[in-house]
Amino acid sequence: MDLVKWARIKSPWVLHLNTGGCNGCDIEVLAALMPRSDVERFGILLQGSPRHADLIVCQGPITKQMRDRVVRIYEQVPEPKFVMAIGSCACTAGVFQGCYNVLGGIDKAIPVDVYVPGCPPNPAAIVDGVMKLLTKLKES
Ligand code: SF4
Repeated sequence: MDLVKWARIKSPWVLHLNTGGCNGCDIEVLAALMPRSDVERFGILLQGSPRHADLIVCQGPITKQMRDRVVRIYEQVPEPKFVMAIGSCACTAGVFQGCYNVLGGIDKAIPVDVYVPGCPPNPAAIVDGVMKLLTKLKES
């Protein structure tokens, strides 16, 4: 395992992106970052810039308005990059399915590596998704 890969597994940097959800999932993601769930114990660090991130954590469905912006943000993340879809909206469009301005889940715009369903998923489910992603990182 090379040094960069080892560092990425030990400390993936995360970009938090809401593409049009109701904020319920955002609150759960923030709860997962707080000391009770404490995903920082896995080295996860929140980043403001896609250029410094390894992982995009997405909530909400893909709307027509957001699609191009999400693709642009995805393209700014350096390779290898990973995407987690948090919540039913990000997985399948959830309660927004069939709305005139909604295209579907996050995978209608960018490839998704880990799906965490739920409306909203609780912090334990988000931590479980993180563990699945870290396993995937080790295998990549
Ligand atoms: S999955 Fe539920 S809580 Fe999350 S953004 Fe959609 S409606 Fe809101």
